[in-house]
Amino acid sequence: MVKKIILGLFLLIIIGVTIVVVFVADKVDTDFNPTILEKPYAFTDRSVELYNSLEFVADLHCDALMWQRNMNTEHDFGHVDIPRLQKGNVAFQAFTMVTKSPDNLNFDNNGSDSDRITNLVIGQGRPLYAWFSLFGRAKYQCKQLQKAAKKNEYFRLVGTKTDFQEFLKDRKKDKRHVGAFLGAEGGHCLEGKIENLGKLYDMGMRMLGPTHFFDNELGGSAHGIDKGGLSDFGKEVILEMVERNMIIDIAHSSSQLVEDVLQLTDAPIISSHTGVNGHCASPRNLTDEQLRAIAGRGGLVGIAFFDEAVCGATIKNIAIAMKYVRDLIGIESVALGSDFDGTVDVPFDATGFPLLVEALLREGFTADEIRLAMGDNVKNFFLKHLPD
Ligand SMILES: [Zn+2]
Repeated sequence: MVKKIILGLFLLIIIGVTIVVVFVADKVDTDFNPTILEKPYAFTDRSVELYNSLEFVADLHCDALMWQRNMNTEHDFGHVDIPRLQKGNVAFQAFTMVTKSPDNLNFDNNGSDSDRITNLVIGQGRPLYAWFSLFGRAKYQCKQLQKAAKKNEYFRLVGTKTDFQEFLKDRKKDKRHVGAFLGAEGGHCLEGKIENLGKLYDMGMRMLGPTHFFDNELGGSAHGIDKGGLSDFGKEVILEMVERNMIIDIAHSSSQLVEDVLQLTDAPIISSHTGVNGHCASPRNLTDEQLRAIAGRGGLVGIAFFDEAVCGATIKNIAIAMKYVRDLIGIESVALGSDFDGTVDVPFDATGFPLLVEALLREGFTADEIRLAMGDNVKNFFLKHLPD
């Protein structure tokens, strides 16, 4: 009898904790990832017609894996899940893993001694191995994406040229197919061990930004304290990434670190989610010189949708930033890098891209230019640079 009561109490506690965890997780997710415009979005006929004719819409950056969200069901909060990608005619979505983020986050000066992700990981009920290990957190997010793909015949992780070509074939037959690409924000998830790069590669990671909001073992962040260049470990990581045909993402890197990467290798580089200084001056954004360096290597500039990237999170400002990149370095380098689900306010979620098409038309983009900027540039880049 006593045993039964204890067992019953134990079960009640487990159920209670689960309910609290799910409730807290959804509440935090809702609060941190708002959308500015309300649905239904006011699309124009011409933008919908053009948008629906696009075969390949791609976004180079979202942080959806940071949240305990079932990717296979549609949500009315946050910005990305698979049903919304399908509804929104998005073919290809990059998922980036965040593993550590300082308290009092800002764009100028962050130390590395605090971390607000720990509470998020524990509060969302993630497994013990992810609580205090940055590598464990990345591993969990890789698994989370793999699990979503396993449960959905239309969703897959793309890691090689062959995967990508097969995906394109399937997508041509049926637009419900969505491809995912896995990256990480900040090489601190390697915990200073080069062998962890290979481990994350084996779990699907193909893109890495050396630093995120603070200076780490690889080098300086644009928002760190020292803002230095690449360390010896950073150089080792970059060279191994080049060897493995992984994609180097300079978003959040200090200017000295970008300089060092350009010196170290002639591999293509991208900035997965950024603004541009010529349009919106910020330590977060790329200089004209950096834009030219990216274009010189056939790289991509994913324009982000949030306030600090485009000086006011309006659709018009996103289009103006894209136009700036087009005019300075050519349409072939322009791409989308929303930063969906990255604790930012964005105008629309993954179902709202026709709004951006309308803004691009108003800025004088041609249909062909829109096709390239909305995804064909990304398709061409990945066809060329993914590992065999
Ligand atoms: Zn970021």
